Amino acid sequence: MKMKREHRPLLVILAGLFTVLVVFVLVAAFNYRSGVNDLSRSLSEAGTRLAEKLAQHEAHLTALAAVVRMGEQEPSKSVHGLAEAIGAFYPRITEIATIRVDGQQAAKVRYDRPAGPEAEGLGSAGLPALAALGSTAVRSQPGEKQYEIYKLVAPGFYLLMTIDAGGLIADGLLPEDYGYRLWLGENRLVERPSAAKALLDATRSLDVNSATQPLRLEVSRGFRAMELLPPLVILPLVLLLAVAICLLAEYRRVIRAGRQQERRAALLEQETKLAHAGRVNALGEMASGIAHELAQPVAALLSQSQAARRAITLERRDILEQALDANVREAKRAGDILGRMRAYIAGGTSQIETVPIERALAEAMRLAEPDLARRGITVDTVVASGDCMLRIDMIGFQQVIHNILRNAAESLAGQDDPRISIRAEGSNGQAVFTIADNGPGIPSSALPHIFEPFFTTKSDGMGLGLPLCARLIEKMDGSIEATNAGGARFTVRLPLEVSQ
Ligand code: ADP
Repeated sequence: MKMKREHRPLLVILAGLFTVLVVFVLVAAFNYRSGVNDLSRSLSEAGTRLAEKLAQHEAHLTALAAVVRMGEQEPSKSVHGLAEAIGAFYPRITEIATIRVDGQQAAKVRYDRPAGPEAEGLGSAGLPALAALGSTAVRSQPGEKQYEIYKLVAPGFYLLMTIDAGGLIADGLLPEDYGYRLWLGENRLVERPSAAKALLDATRSLDVNSATQPLRLEVSRGFRAMELLPPLVILPLVLLLAVAICLLAEYRRVIRAGRQQERRAALLEQETKLAHAGRVNALGEMASGIAHELAQPVAALLSQSQAARRAITLERRDILEQALDANVREAKRAGDILGRMRAYIAGGTSQIETVPIERALAEAMRLAEPDLARRGITVDTVVASGDCMLRIDMIGFQQVIHNILRNAAESLAGQDDPRISIRAEGSNGQAVFTIADNGPGIPSSALPHIFEPFFTTKSDGMGLGLPLCARLIEKMDGSIEATNAGGARFTVRLPLEVSQ
């Protein structure tokens, strides 16, 4: 399907918008991906540091267990000293105690008190669960921020360490705008939501590497629109794209203009060729026309000259004079034809003169009358023009009338009672000449073509008489047409001199 030319700018705009959209999506995807990579890197670093902290808890428990096992009576001073030191350096360790279970009774001694070990009663509530614990166990109460680590020191004797989970990631372990959650099993110990009011969120989680404290760290971050599509990246890109689209549009315009110019040049070349062909054609037409028009005066000159020869032999001075007069007339006519053709070829104006209708017709007829008389053709002439004046090129007009009459005469060959009727009238600023014969008429298939150059139905015809007539009449601002009415009928219209 071909797109209409007027829709093309719309297509360019749509393609531009689509490209901008694709660029936006690519930039956003790139920024999102690198943001998520940062998140994963931070998570992995935080996981490593968290694992180190958990390992510290294990080390403290091992050290405490070793001191407890030394067998000092409870409350032990050595254990208290160590517990105090641990508590001072690690504020997140909020409780260090021993628990001794004896049947249904349990005794707890807290060593984290600065004042000294402190015996504390312990209800029987947690004891069965405690008894089921292995060598090291971790517990936390739902909704609490802390968790407890129990370490079995001797049968029925446990070390307890309570950790404030909030202290584990409080010290800038993760970037400010990251959110995090620290889980122990299903218990969420601590949570910080991510800062941004985000367009998109990303979350990654990690099981902290510890044999005793199975914590899971989850970090999340939001992406604001500005982070995904930073104006400093987007603006130059959009500008670049706009410039590229403008350049493309300009390029297309230049290419199109170039093509149009090529087309125009080709058209011009074609027109020039046609005009040249037309000129050559017209020239050929003209040359044939000259030959055609001169054929008659030359033939007449020949026959009159032969008549003159005979007159000399017969010593008939009168016939000789007649023949010489006719020769002079024909030679003049041939000269006139040549002069008119020369003027026509040179593009000069024909000699327009003002002549009364009657005289114009009489002069034109004079040329044809001897031939018509010889052929035995009756000519009826009616002039109903008053004293109307024609504006014509006299020689051209004679040529037209002569051509029409010659054609009529030729069509009447072999006809009974051959007749030509000529009517001239003038009215409403126009002279109308009607020349009709009683011959066979113009074949209807030929009628539309008789004014075309080289159209003829005669074996010896040239088909130039009527085209020449049409051209001459046109030059005099008139018109000529042909129809059949009995025989052929030609109507010539010419302008009349406008009376002052
Ligand atoms: P040509 O006489 O050499 O054929 P023209 O241009 O004078 O060339 O005439 C063109 C054709 O018009 C003629 O061949 C003929 O068929 C037709 N024609 C012209 N005048 C008459 C007429 N009076 N009667 C019948 N046919 C005519």
